[in-house]
Amino acid sequence: SGGVVDAKNLRVKLVLLGDSGVGKSCIVLRFVRGQFDPTSKVTIGASFLSQTIALQDSTTVKFEIWDTAGQERYAALAPLYYRGAAVAVIVYDITSPETFNKAQYWVKELQKHGSPDIVMALVGNKADLQEKREVPTQDGIDYAEKNGMFFMETSAKTADNINQLFELSSSDFSLVFD
Ligand code: GDP
Ligand code: MG
Repeated sequence: SGGVVDAKNLRVKLVLLGDSGVGKSCIVLRFVRGQFDPTSKVTIGASFLSQTIALQDSTTVKFEIWDTAGQERYAALAPLYYRGAAVAVIVYDITSPETFNKAQYWVKELQKHGSPDIVMALVGNKADLQEKREVPTQDGIDYAEKNGMFFMETSAKTADNINQLFELSSSDFSLVFD
C-alpha cells in the first residue's frame, strides 16, 4: 500500500530461567495457549514457543520464547538461550526460599555474562498458594529494585498477571523490527 508503514511488527526474544518446578513451562503454556496443565512434563534441555500479541497502538509483538530446564545438568546450556535475548524472565516459587536464592544466582549470571542491555523481570510464581507463602512479596520487590529489574507475582494456575508480565516486559527495551 504505497510503502506506508502504519503498523509496527516487533520481535522479542525472551528466555525463562529459574529452578526446576517453579512453573516456567506453565507460565508459557498459560500465555501461549490460555491453559493450565497440572501434570505438565519436566522440560528437557529447552523448548521453544512463540506468541504474538497486539498492543493498543496497532503494534504487534511477536514473542520468541525459550523455556529452559532448571536442572543443574543443563546449566552449561543456559548461555545458548540467554545470549541475544532482549528479555530474561527469572522465575521463583513464592513457597520456596531455595528457588528465590536460585533466582538471585541467575540474576548475577546474567549481570556477568548476559547482554548489557537485557531487560530482566523477576517473577514470584504460584501466587495462588498464599497459605504456603515463604518468600514475602517485599523481598522480591526489594531485590528487583536493587538490581534494576521489573517485579511481578504471577499464578499460571489462575492466570493472574501472566499477560501483564509479557506486556510489561515488551514495553521497555530496544525492540527488534521484523
Ligand atoms: P518448570 O520446571 O519451572 O517448568 O515448572 P512447571 O511449569 O513444569 O511446573 C511445576 C509444577 O508446579 C507443576 O506441577 C505445576 O502444576 C505447578 N505449578 C506451576 N505453576 C503454578 C501456579 O501458578 N500455581 C500452582 N499452584 N502450581 C503451579
Ligand atoms: Mg519446564
